[in-house]
Formats: sequence, structure tokens, C-alpha cells
Amino acid sequence: MVGSIQWLGHANFVVTSVGDKIIYIDPFITENPLCPVSLDDIKAADIVLVTHDHFDHLGNAVEIVKKTGGTLVAQPETAGMMISQLGLSADNVVNFGMGMNIGATAVIDGITITMTQAFHSSQTASNTGFIVKLEDGYTIYHAGDTGIFSTMKILGELYPIDLALLPIGNAFTMDPIQAARALTLLNPKKAIPMHYRTFPILEQSADRFVALAKNEAPGVEIVILEPGQTIVL
Ligand SMILES: [Zn+2]
Repeated sequence: MVGSIQWLGHANFVVTSVGDKIIYIDPFITENPLCPVSLDDIKAADIVLVTHDHFDHLGNAVEIVKKTGGTLVAQPETAGMMISQLGLSADNVVNFGMGMNIGATAVIDGITITMTQAFHSSQTASNTGFIVKLEDGYTIYHAGDTGIFSTMKILGELYPIDLALLPIGNAFTMDPIQAARALTLLNPKKAIPMHYRTFPILEQSADRFVALAKNEAPGVEIVILEPGQTIVL
């Protein structure tokens, strides 16, 4: 088994680990104009990560957890809202239904999940990103919705990053200028831009990011995915 990652458009990724665990991050399916799969196509999920409660990130997390029995990871207030208002079972939430918070690490099904800070807005909690370490040590950082922050440097040092998933869309997150500089702080081996193209207000291509990244962080391999495309980790 080889690990892989698929982009479903926006901030929505599916990681399949070497141990065949399936991890959804910000599963925005039914209202996502870039998402090439339907909810019916999703048969299995072991872990579902939600960075914050905005509709384009919370997405279909509750439906996916309900149908697959996977474990939801989100902040306590966001998980609590999903339990009290959206009918999620507390049995399917990390830490015995309580959720987790920034700075913490949980091991679920052999996958190590660390919740990181992110700077953005939210209804039920603050905002987060995730560092996901697979069984073979391969480490993915999903920044969530955020502006740049200098602590990215510490995250990169503490959790050497193989692959960084960074928003570049502007309007609600980092723009290409900040995202390219973030590469120099995080120092990942590879990076995939996200949170662009989905809506007219967002940056419509990765071209500016690619050009800036080449200058700022020439050692980082930038991988541009089409929605639905899968690459081997
Ligand atoms: Zn948001």
C-alpha cells in the first residue's frame, strides 16, 4: 500500500495512508462547485478533520461521519455544536466526545493528528490547522483558513513537513504573496495550493503563487492539482 492524497477542490483533501486509513480534511462536497464526487461516492472514512465551522469547511462532515462511523476531530465548541444541532453522535468525536484544541496531539487508528493555530474567524470556536503524521512518518500540514503567522517556523521545526497544503485564494485567507513567504517558514519538501478557483472572489489560478514560490522558496516543489486528481505521497 502506498499513501496518496486527492484534492476535491477548495480546502477538501482525502488522504489514504500506507496503512489504508482514509482521512478527510474539510469535506466540502455537495455545495463545492469544484468537487467531482458526490456524497454517495463516499463509502469509507476513518478520520474526518474539520478546521472550523464555516460552511465551506464543515461541509458534509456530519453526513460522512454518520455513514462511515469515522472519528471527527474538531474543537470542543465546534464538535459540541455538531452534536447538539446537527445530530452527530458524541461516540464519533475524538477524546470521548470532547474534541481537541490547539497544541494537542491525538493518535487515532495509528495516525497522529496535531491541532495547530490559524488566524481567521468562526462562529463556534477559533480556527485551526492540522499536522497529520501517517504510520510511516510522512507528515502533512493543512493550514486551514489563515493569514501568515511567524509560528509557522516553529511548526516546521517541531514537525518536519513533507507536504504543506496552503490557502492562496486571498479575500478570506493568505494571498499568493503570504503563502509563498509561508513556505520559507514551514520549509516543507512539497506544497499544494488550495482555497482558490472555487468562487469568483478568490484567486482564479495558482500562477501567481507558483511564480512567487519559485523566488521565495526555490527548494520547495510546488504541485498543482486539478480537482479530483490524486498523487502518490
Ligand atoms: Zn472560513
